[in-house]
Amino acid sequence: MLRAVCPGSFDPLHNGHVEVIARASSLFDEVIVAVSKNPSKKPRFSLEERMDMARETMTLLRGITVEPMGEGLLAEFCRDHGAGVIVKGLRSAVDYNYEVPMAAMNRQLTGVETVFLSADSHYTHLSSTLLKEVSGLGGDISDYVPRAVYKRLKDTR
Ligand code: ADP
Repeated sequence: MLRAVCPGSFDPLHNGHVEVIARASSLFDEVIVAVSKNPSKKPRFSLEERMDMARETMTLLRGITVEPMGEGLLAEFCRDHGAGVIVKGLRSAVDYNYEVPMAAMNRQLTGVETVFLSADSHYTHLSSTLLKEVSGLGGDISDYVPRAVYKRLKDTR
């Protein structure tokens, strides 16, 4: 049984995230979407709101659960949840350069492996930050976020 973790702050979840999580769920038996608190980033949505949006979006996908992640090490979260793999989406060389040292460190700490999935070309330009900005300025982001997120972003503009 292979269990994988897809970590992130998901503030908010967008279709680039969903696409990577769905691909992870076709590769692994179980996927945990681990939503980090990340207080240093001053998130727009509370941890509960971010988890609710992820849960509402994932209801139709089997084998996916959504869990909060404390401020501890991701490698320890994986070990505590019996997950041997971390799945990350890569948009660009910037992501690659940031992620590879973390992957090496996580593997050395607990043996957890990181699997990188290249972002779908439709979504390489997406980030939560950009989508919040565009939505705040009245742009239509309905093609880029799940319905549960679109509604909340519109309501909190
Ligand atoms: P962070 O945890 O740095 O705040 P996010 O919550 O935005 O990052 O994203 C979580 C993970 O989702 C990232 O580490 C990355 O692997 C992946 N990701 C982010 N944006 C995209 C995208 N547009 N396409 C594919 N994967 C993405």
